[in-house]
Amino acid sequence: MVVTRFAPSPTGYLHIGGLRTALFSYLWAKKNGGKFVLRIEDTDKARNSEEATQAILKAFEWLGLEHDGEITYQSQRDAIYAKYIKQLLDEGKAYKCYMSKEELTELRETQMLNKERTKYNGKYRDFKGIPPEGIEPVIRIKAPLSGEILVKDGVKGAVSFQAQDILDDFVIARADGAATYNFVVAIDDHLMGINEVIRGDDHLSNTPKQIVVYDALGWDLPKFYHVPMIHNSAGKKLSKRDGATDVMAYKEMGYTPEALLNFLVRLGWSHGDQEIFSMEEMQELFNPKDINKSASIYSTDKLDWLNAHYIKNTSNEILVELLVGYGLTLTSHDKKEVLLDALKERAKTLKEMAELVKEILVTPESYDEKAVKKAFKGKPIPILNAFGAKLAAGEPHLPSDYHALMEEVVSEMKIGFGKIGMPLRVALLGKMGGPNIDVIMAVIGKEETMLRIAKAIATKENL
Ligand code: GLU
Repeated sequence: MVVTRFAPSPTGYLHIGGLRTALFSYLWAKKNGGKFVLRIEDTDKARNSEEATQAILKAFEWLGLEHDGEITYQSQRDAIYAKYIKQLLDEGKAYKCYMSKEELTELRETQMLNKERTKYNGKYRDFKGIPPEGIEPVIRIKAPLSGEILVKDGVKGAVSFQAQDILDDFVIARADGAATYNFVVAIDDHLMGINEVIRGDDHLSNTPKQIVVYDALGWDLPKFYHVPMIHNSAGKKLSKRDGATDVMAYKEMGYTPEALLNFLVRLGWSHGDQEIFSMEEMQELFNPKDINKSASIYSTDKLDWLNAHYIKNTSNEILVELLVGYGLTLTSHDKKEVLLDALKERAKTLKEMAELVKEILVTPESYDEKAVKKAFKGKPIPILNAFGAKLAAGEPHLPSDYHALMEEVVSEMKIGFGKIGMPLRVALLGKMGGPNIDVIMAVIGKEETMLRIAKAIATKENL
């Protein structure tokens, strides 16, 4: 059975790079009828917070990514790590190192002066004497001194590391007994039955160390997939400046989970030139062997495009529910359907949609100066009055009814459509832009339309 995992360190919010590898891991487990488990790597007490763990769980909940079974917290597993440290010590595969801080610093400085790689020199590897007093030892693992460590990576192919270039007998337990990062990752991945590890390629250089741990304990290696980073359009590693990287900020900005997940699955993975993937399709088609070898490029336009697609395809009923999260309650508005149908064709985000709706439903308090100047040059007042009279006399309901009345004014007064359209738009919204005015009028109704026209005329007269 395929078991994958997501193993975040709760040092801050969940960022989209992490979410992407979580999604890949989730999809691969689902596709294989396997398990996707969650491990919180909270061993760094100074930098971890419960708040960050909660933020990660909240983001998962929003996106509908469910993990299997209980969450594993590394902070609760000291006894397990201690057991394996003891085992390695007993088997002579790890040893106590009594090197003092000063000695280590001196060693490092000498190596740097000689332009050598800084590494531990193995002083206590085969030490048999009496240890120096007053020093709490760290535990080091016996790493191979020569030869190669081969990472058979599902994305990168076989990556060979020369032991002498990258390894030394690294510390697996600090002087206070705390097990170290690469050690616990290997222990946990094995004990949790994880056999496919999909993670960012910033972890590739850790993998040889983790392999040393697996080998020392005689365990089979999982299959590794190291996913290239996400870059910005300038080809640099994605940073906060390139937009929000906190997953929950995407919710605030009005992106839907479907769009965000679809966006992320395409960052570094492809299936022909298909762009739109439902969750079902992602689960059916995702395969880590198709992960691209080069970095992927983050594009806000692409995300907006996908989001617009999903908004357009969301039922009005569900949109009403979603828009509540953006401060808009559309309970009994009788023209809800017309309004949402019109706006979902043009809104890129739910937030934008909520704002558009509010703009339409509320009588303008003020008028954009530039728009007034542009729309009210010429003689719009008689035109607006003529239209007002048509409204008063008629029974318009549908956008097409309003449109027909505008057409009548245009042909009777022998004017271009813009002569009525522009001032009417400013009267209705207080500014240029927005959806079709016949839709706006149909939504707010005849009385409110007449009121807004009268208000705009009065304001114009006061200008
Ligand atoms: N905790 C690590 C991180 O957040 C991930 C470890 C792993 O995936 O092996 O970067």
